[in-house]
Amino acid sequence: MTYIPAETLAAEAKKTWAEVSAKKEPLKPKDRMAIPAQEMPSQDPAIRRSNMEEVALGYSAEEARLEALRCLQCTTAPCIAGCPVSINIPGFIQAIADGDNKKAIDILKESSLLPAVCGRVCPQETQCQAPCTVGKALKSVDKAVSIGRLERYVADWERENGLMEIPAIKPNTGKKVGIIGTGPAGLTVAADIRREGHDVTLFEAFHKPGGVMVYGIPEFRLPKAIVQKEIDTLTAMGCELKTNFVIGRTRKISDLLGEDGFDALFIGTGAGLPRFMNIEGENLVGVYSANEYLTRSNLMRAYDKERAATPVFDSERVAVLGGGNVAMDAARTAVRLGAKEVYLIYRRTEVEMPARVEEVAHAKEEGVIFHFLQNPKRILSDERGWVRGIECLRYELGEPDASGRRRPVEIKGSEFEIELDTVIVAIGNDSNPLIRQTTPGLETNKWGNIIVDENGKSSIERIYAGGDIVLGAATVILAMGEGRKAAAAMNKMLANS
Ligand SMILES: Cc1cc2nc3c(=O)[nH]c(=O)nc-3n(C[C@H](O)[C@H](O)[C@H](O)COP(=O)(O)OP(=O)(O)OC[C@H]3O[C@@H](n4cnc5c(N)ncnc54)[C@H](O)[C@@H]3O)c2cc1C
Repeated sequence: MTYIPAETLAAEAKKTWAEVSAKKEPLKPKDRMAIPAQEMPSQDPAIRRSNMEEVALGYSAEEARLEALRCLQCTTAPCIAGCPVSINIPGFIQAIADGDNKKAIDILKESSLLPAVCGRVCPQETQCQAPCTVGKALKSVDKAVSIGRLERYVADWERENGLMEIPAIKPNTGKKVGIIGTGPAGLTVAADIRREGHDVTLFEAFHKPGGVMVYGIPEFRLPKAIVQKEIDTLTAMGCELKTNFVIGRTRKISDLLGEDGFDALFIGTGAGLPRFMNIEGENLVGVYSANEYLTRSNLMRAYDKERAATPVFDSERVAVLGGGNVAMDAARTAVRLGAKEVYLIYRRTEVEMPARVEEVAHAKEEGVIFHFLQNPKRILSDERGWVRGIECLRYELGEPDASGRRRPVEIKGSEFEIELDTVIVAIGNDSNPLIRQTTPGLETNKWGNIIVDENGKSSIERIYAGGDIVLGAATVILAMGEGRKAAAAMNKMLANS
């Protein structure tokens, strides 16, 4: 991926739009296929390395309409099958092509509560864009219609033009629903339940709502103001929000269902418990979990040194261990916090890396140095108990494992050292055990995820769950989809009780 300045892309789109819109006849499939895929304008890598502002700048009106015109409107619509919440993708894209953004956002909102978020962070290349007919015909998923960018375009259009509406609420039913956790799962359930006229209270352990969208995913990928707008809508709908409120400590589930008088509960507490490597030196000063590092930077704004609610050590040489989106976010944050060198250490090759291709490309553009087929054996200490480096082993790929990816096999005697002052462990998250430990009868699986039926109902009557606490660390759109399903079942249960 080569960086092209936003002005160059905009000028090119204006020229192409003039040609395309001058055509008298309706566009034929071959004309649509001839329209160049519209690149997403982005901040110059040399500049964005030292700011927290959003990297991707969003389409202009011409870029969006051209991209929308690339859609062949196939009757089979394989893209819909690729979307976890079955958005009417050809429908909203046609509306953009027609210049009817209002219709486009209405179609999107039939299925998705958070289009501005999903348009930015969904892994479209493995979901809706993977089966796109245009991408298949052009033999590259990169050339598929950019469904996510179009979703973002139209959601931003609505917000920036002050057109977001407060959904209508049915008359008060007198029923009370508690929602634990304010990530995408909890927020979705809150909106769907409140619309039916039930009282909704959201409980959040942190001082700010939004879940990973606020404490994990950095500002440069998902501006916090966008998530806040969704939360403002919920409070305007009459949902009550209680922050700094840890269920399992401040109140237990049994208190909520008992003396607090809640008729139903939804648990959407996510997967916020970081995994560690269990190697020597992991408790040295200068070792962070990616969760801690990102929470300090995002939620507590450590990057804003004058006003930060928490300090963060001024690292010079940082290693991030892992190869997923979380690892990319941590590495790119370290760059922005001023580290001179940031290494990403992954024990397989780039092909097996679970991170989104776009995030990897952005990390490379920003100067993150990738070390493939390497893994730390131990973290090295200086005389004060601070990190001074890591000892790594080199790996090669063996036979595929249960996940289908080729297994990394260590090369004996290949140890070498890297000098560092900071290590960030980003090898995955598990679910937080607090609610499980304080709620007798709540069934969980061996990973601690809550077991639910096909409607999101747990082993306890009137308690539902969804999102990462059920699925294990997954995605925003899946959490939202789970939330929708559970909310529908909860509304039905409340209507009949
Ligand atoms: C750094 C990072 C980057 C990611 N990038 C992407 C991406 O690009 N695209 C994508 O689709 N997905 C991404 N994900 C995954 C995605 O964010 C999650 O799958 C999604 O947020 C899960 O939503 P959720 O509502 O289940 O939980 P969460 O978003 O985790 O929210 C759970 C909330 O519950 C609160 N909570 C926990 N326990 C309690 C308690 N006992 N009492 C009260 N509140 C509690 C937590 O504080 C949190 O606010 C990323 C995850 C991380 C960590």
